[in-house]
Order: sequence, then structure tokens, then C-alpha cells
Amino acid sequence: MHDHRRLGRELGLFDSDPLIGSGLPYWLPDGAAVRHALEEYIRDQERRAGYQHVYSPVLGKRELYEISGHWSHYRDNMYPPMDLGGEQVMLRPSLCPHHALIYRSRARSHRELPLRIAELGGMYRAELSGVLGGLSRVRAIQLNDAHIFAPLDAAAGEAHAALSMISRAHAAMGIERAWYRLSLPGPGGKYIAAPGDWRRSTALLREVLDEAGLPYEAVEGEAAFYGPKIDVQVADAAGREFTLSTVQIDFHQPEQFDLRYVGADGAKHRPVMVHRSIVGSVERAVAHLIELHGGAFPAWLAPVQLVVLPVGDGERAFADALVARAVDLGVRAAVRGPEHGTLAARVRDARLAPYQAVIGPREDAAGDVAPRLRDGRRLDPRPAAEFLARLAGQIAAHSPELWPVPAP
Ligand SMILES: [Zn+2]
Repeated sequence: MHDHRRLGRELGLFDSDPLIGSGLPYWLPDGAAVRHALEEYIRDQERRAGYQHVYSPVLGKRELYEISGHWSHYRDNMYPPMDLGGEQVMLRPSLCPHHALIYRSRARSHRELPLRIAELGGMYRAELSGVLGGLSRVRAIQLNDAHIFAPLDAAAGEAHAALSMISRAHAAMGIERAWYRLSLPGPGGKYIAAPGDWRRSTALLREVLDEAGLPYEAVEGEAAFYGPKIDVQVADAAGREFTLSTVQIDFHQPEQFDLRYVGADGAKHRPVMVHRSIVGSVERAVAHLIELHGGAFPAWLAPVQLVVLPVGDGERAFADALVARAVDLGVRAAVRGPEHGTLAARVRDARLAPYQAVIGPREDAAGDVAPRLRDGRRLDPRPAAEFLARLAGQIAAHSPELWPVPAP
């Protein structure tokens, strides 16, 4: 494993400035390309799974967090309120309260449920500066979050579907080593007291894990203040374990915000709230991907996916045209011409790009490319259009493989 802070600098993915502050990194163009690809993948998966996307503000009034329980149970991690003309507003510590209010903004019928509300939104954590570093501990977080409002009997199915989305995403991202933790409350007063709710949600989460056939470890003291959760754990470069993805079943927030729906019987019922995150914080997810792949991202995440290498200046025009066609197909492509050194040096410089296309006089004359894959494979020269179409297809499929494995 690599240190993402060193690689992030070397590869020009992100950086920070003491004048902006610690724990507040900025993303450089190549890092922004990785992040954008990840965010688009998540949104696409969510759309296919019936989620609806919203935007909500990163600020809220102090009363909002008093109702949600953050003010009394989570205040140590929050920024202090700002006084605005007699009102106190705060940077939000989570997206849940805003989504609960979006649910509550109109009368809901059982026919609309499960209602899946998703947002890649900002939230803030008042981390001490001593623990900050790179992208793994930040004070401004972009969270891949969603809340599913469902009748009680649909909650387990929704949690199960979220776990399947998580494993599909991990496969696409090339994450092979992850394990499941059932996070339960521990001793101490940091949890809301409603023993019946804790028992019910813990039983449901156990049922979901058992039904999915997933081995897990139950750990006390790791629950959210309002309920237990399934955490999908991975390890960073230093071997420290952290939570990448999470699924929770929550009875508390629907109660606090008095959420309701009209059932088939015409009576009012309380929905259950399933909180789920596929990749957690975008910062932490990208930090993990940098360390896991040493900068050699799966093709769909790579900042530059195709590097075109004209052998000499004579092949320059064809190389430029090839890049233009690739960009048109949605591929992130660039030319590295002879002004950047010998062909061997340029091949080496572009070693993290999943695909290289070398163009010599013979390829130029025939309209062919001679592709090289990052794993060292060289493909036979082939028509440029055919290569680009297959490459674009491979990227669009979010495959962790660089090229189709030939049929036996
Ligand atoms: Zn939530």
C-alpha cells in the first residue's frame, strides 16, 4: 500500500494551503477528474436503483439539530453556531435532518414508498488539527448519502438492496478486501435512550446480514448516536481500519420529525428511515483508491485514460485526430508527442494510464493503432475506430478489467 498524501502530491491530484487551513484540501484537475468519475458512477447507480436526487443547503438552524438530537449527542464534532440577526445557524454535521424535512414537506401516501432520496452533499466536522492529513481526515466532507423512507416491512429489503449496491461498487473500484461490522452502542451516555428501538433495528440488521450470507463481527461502541449500523470496513495504508460504506435502520429520526404516511387502510403510519452510503465520504473513498491502486486506477476512474504516442512529428495530425475522436466518445485522452522525449521515455511517463496507443508511420498510413495496456499486454495493430469503440465500451461498463479476456 502507498501513502495517499505523498502520491496525491506527486500525481497532482490534490493539495492544501495553510492559508485555506488544515483539513481543507483542494482538488487539482486530475484529482477532480477521478472524483467526478466516482460521483457520476454513484449517481448513475442510484438512478438505476430508483433513487431521486435532491440538493439541500449545508447550513441549518440550531433548532433543526436540537430536534434531530445532534445538538445534545454530537455537539463536540460540530462547528459552533453563527449568529445572524438573532438567529443561530450551523454548518450541518449530517444530511439526515434536511432529508427528513424534504420527506415531511408534503403529505405522503403508501403508494410513494419506499421513497429514496439521495444527495452527494457537503457536511462539516470540527476535527482537531492534530489528526488531519491529506484526504482521509477533513473538516469539509462531500458525503454520498441517501435516505430511504419505507414502511417497516420494506426496511430489511431496502437495506439488503443497499448492501448489494455496495458490493457492486466495491467490485468496480477494485476493492477486494472489505469486511462487515455490526456496530452496536456501548456504555456511556452518548446514545439516545429508546431500548425498544435499538432492539428492533439491531434485530433487522442481523436479519439482513444473515439473509445475505455475510459474515460479520458485532462491535460495541461503534453505533451512531441514534441507532445501530452495518459498517463495511477497509484498511488504510498504515493498516488502520475505517468505515467506507454504511447501512442503518433508524426509528429515532422519523419519531423526532413526526414523519407519517397514509397507509392502504387510510390511517397514518410512521415510516422507517434507512440511511445508507455506498462510498461514504468522497474524500476518504478517493484517498483509499489512491493507496489501494498506487495511482493506477481502474480505467473508468483514471484521470487520463488514453495516452496517444506519435512516434515522430509526421504522425502528429493523426494522433490529434484520434484524441479528438476519443474525447468525443467520452474518453479522457491526451497526446504526448516527441517534444516530451524518446518513445521509450514517453511510454514510461504514461505508465499509469490504462491505455496507450502508439502511432508509427505504418499505423498512420493504415489508420491503425498499436495499443498497449497498462498491465504490459500489447494488442495487435487494429483500426483506430474499432479500438476506440471497444475502449469506450469497457470504460462505460465500469469494468475493473482493462480489456475483455479472450474466450477460451
Ligand atoms: Zn442519514
